[in-house]
Amino acid sequence: MVKELAKTENLRRGAAPESAWAYFEGGYVPLAEARVSVMTHAFNYGTGCFEGIRAYWNAADSQLYALFLREHYERMLRSCKLLKIQLPHSAAELAEITLEVLRRCGYRSDVYVRPIAYKPDEIIGVRLHDLGNAFTVFAVPFGNYIDIEKGLKVGVSSWRRVDDNAIPARAKITGSYINAAFATTDAHDSGYDEAIVLTQDGHVSEGSAENLFMVRDGRLVTPAGTDNILEGITRGAVLSIARDEGIPIEVRSIDRTELYICEELFLTGTGAQISPVTSVDHRAVGDGVTGPITAKIKDVYFRAVKGMLPRYRSWVTPVF
Ligand code: PMP
Repeated sequence: MVKELAKTENLRRGAAPESAWAYFEGGYVPLAEARVSVMTHAFNYGTGCFEGIRAYWNAADSQLYALFLREHYERMLRSCKLLKIQLPHSAAELAEITLEVLRRCGYRSDVYVRPIAYKPDEIIGVRLHDLGNAFTVFAVPFGNYIDIEKGLKVGVSSWRRVDDNAIPARAKITGSYINAAFATTDAHDSGYDEAIVLTQDGHVSEGSAENLFMVRDGRLVTPAGTDNILEGITRGAVLSIARDEGIPIEVRSIDRTELYICEELFLTGTGAQISPVTSVDHRAVGDGVTGPITAKIKDVYFRAVKGMLPRYRSWVTPVF
C-alpha cells in the first residue's frame, strides 16, 4: 500500500524509474548515468533551452503516441538560434533520437519527454560565444501535472513576465524559468492554484508556464506572440480546433479586468493540457464551472492527442 502510494506520487512528480534511458553526449545511456559537472556553464548561468513534450498511451491501440515532435524540435532550434547553440541535428533527427529513447524506456503509460540543448563547458565566464554545444533528452512516466478536472483558482501575480528585451519569453530558456518559479510559489503561498503574469505594460501575458485563453461575447481570445508569451504548441493546437469547430478567434492584448468579466477562461500547455480556470483574484469566472467552449475544445484535444481523430492524426507519431 505504502509502495503503491509512493509509486503514484512519483508518477505525479515525474520521478524517473530505474528503466529510464537518456540520450547524452552522443549516445544512449541509462538515465542514472547521464550526469554533468557542477562547473557546467548551463548549470551556473542558465545558458540552455529546453522543451516539454508529452507522449500519450492509448490502451486500445496498445500504442504510445508522441505529440507534436516536429513542432517542439522546430521551436527548440529557434530557441537555440537565439542562444547561439549550434546542434548537429535537424528537427527530424532530434525527433528520431527521441523515439529511440522512448522505445528503450519501453513505458506503457503517459510520458513526459524533456530535451535540453545547452552550453556544456566547464568554465567560468558568462557569455554565449566561444562555448560548446550539447543536447540531451530523457523521458519519465507522467500523469496530470495540474488537476484539470476541478478547475483552477488563479491569482494575478505581482511578478511581471520577462520582457523580450531582457530575457525573450519566445525562447524556452532554462534560466528564464526563475520568473515562472517566483510567480508559482507566490501564488501557492497565497492559496491559489496558479499565477497569471502580466507584461511590463500591464497586459495579460500568460500563466506561469501555460498560455491563456478567455471567452468574451462567444469569441475565443488569446494574447499575441508580442505580449511576451511562449508561442505555445498547445496554443496552436487549440487555435486549430477552434477554427475547425467554427469558434470565432481574436488574437489581441487582454486587459487584467477582462479576466474578471469574461465568460470562460482556461490555460493551455503540454503539461497543463487544457486546464479550466474557475476563479481569478477571488472572482468567479462565468458561473464558476467549466464553460461549453472550454469543454468542447478539451474534449476534441484529449481525443486528438491519443491518436483517436483522423483529422488530427498528423499531430502524433507512434513510438512502437
Ligand atoms: N508558456 C510558458 C512560459 C511555458 O513554459 C509553457 C510550457 N512549455 C507554455 C506557455 C505552453 O507551451 P506548450 O503548449 O508548447 O507546452
